[in-house]
Amino acid sequence: MLGEIKGLNEECGVFAVWNHKDAAQITYYGLHSLQHRGQEGAGIVVSDGDKLSIHKGLGLVTEAIKEGDLERLQGHASVGHVRYATAGGGGLVNCQPLLFQSQTGGLAVAHNGNLVNANGLKHQLEGQGSIFQSTSDTEVLAHLVKRSVYPRLEDKVTNALSMIKGAYAFAVMTENKLMVALDPNGLRPLSIGKIGEGYVISSETCAFDVVGAEYLREVQPGELITFDADGMHSEIFSSSSARSICSMEYIYFARPDSNVDEINVHSARKNLGRQLAQELPVEADVVTGVPDSSISAAIGYAEEAGIPYELGLIKNRYVGRTFIQPSQELREQGVKMKLSAVRGIVEGKRVVMVDDSIVRGTTSRRIVKLLKDAGAKEVHVRISSPPITHPCFYGIDTSTKSELIASSHSVEEMREMMGADSLSFLSVDGMLKGIGRKQESSSCGQCLACFTGNYPTEIYPDTLHPHDKVLNS
Ligand code: SF4
Repeated sequence: MLGEIKGLNEECGVFAVWNHKDAAQITYYGLHSLQHRGQEGAGIVVSDGDKLSIHKGLGLVTEAIKEGDLERLQGHASVGHVRYATAGGGGLVNCQPLLFQSQTGGLAVAHNGNLVNANGLKHQLEGQGSIFQSTSDTEVLAHLVKRSVYPRLEDKVTNALSMIKGAYAFAVMTENKLMVALDPNGLRPLSIGKIGEGYVISSETCAFDVVGAEYLREVQPGELITFDADGMHSEIFSSSSARSICSMEYIYFARPDSNVDEINVHSARKNLGRQLAQELPVEADVVTGVPDSSISAAIGYAEEAGIPYELGLIKNRYVGRTFIQPSQELREQGVKMKLSAVRGIVEGKRVVMVDDSIVRGTTSRRIVKLLKDAGAKEVHVRISSPPITHPCFYGIDTSTKSELIASSHSVEEMREMMGADSLSFLSVDGMLKGIGRKQESSSCGQCLACFTGNYPTEIYPDTLHPHDKVLNS
């Protein structure tokens, strides 16, 4: 993944099925289409009405779950997860779903997002005798549910949800109920689809097309939806719900064929490119995008600017995680693994290179060099988002503030460091306009925290990285 070298890493993906005889198989295909959201591990828990069974493993979905594993997972309901470790570290023990067995039955939990008060709650719970089996913040919810005094499971879950803060799209399953919930700010996407007589729930709608499900609706901020023998029921557990969906889902994370809160991601990116061309025009011969996430924005830029769009950069799709990476010395000699510049396209040309974001700046510098080494006369870098100046605490690994190049360098300093002929970023207003959410309603808000530092939730001191504590103090 290019994100790994950029320092901007995906979060996680949740997929669940209710009332389908092939629940585990459908979940497997669903997880496969959410693979871009996490490649460190995958797992499925299935319910046959009497018991919960689990399989999880490390690596890509195809590595973590084999055909024989799926055959063992018989049941009508399931919860699946692909993981990128944003909090709590890696290893199989932190792969999800987490499954807890007790005398009162089983409880499976899968989570996309990051809790900002997990550490404080964990200390409290440990002080009261809870023993944690993982270092993942997701486990906090399971302990809160299990300790809740309410008799009804839905009340236990809403009581637990009222104590946690941050970003979460949760799927919780027992032997006879599946529940999904979204945090009161709706920071992460979560959609519901219909499949036959049953339902599917997914972090992204691209998974619905893959499994033959029909889109039904979004899970709303502060909403808990329960699926049981009586069908689907909704309840609102937070009255202070105002949507702040993550802008980076549109800019970088989600698949272009997904609709995030009913806006198509490819169209949003193309519009960001159009905005960029309007705000920051430049005389050039070709426009190229950094594959894959910047291609849509580059097409939009080219269309708006009336400059031809060309595939000036090619990504090698077959660089697996286990491929032996070249040493620093070989890299300096020009052994390039992930991207190549197409000499025949860029040689002697003034090139506009559209990228979706800059995190540490090292990737951009390498790409500008690739284009110049391939003979580009000029390289004008255009970024289809504003500068990332603040870290994310909601499940996107944007590094610490001190590692974010835009937090400590001017645009001119960054341009000089990357060796570009010009560098410009889209404005916050241009980004809002490009994505096209109707900002006037509280249900249409958008999180801008990594660009503005205005976080939609309280940030607790124990969520901050030591470097950021210094910077924020
Ligand atoms: S801080 Fe940035 S990356 Fe994090 S949720 Fe908000 S918009 Fe998304």
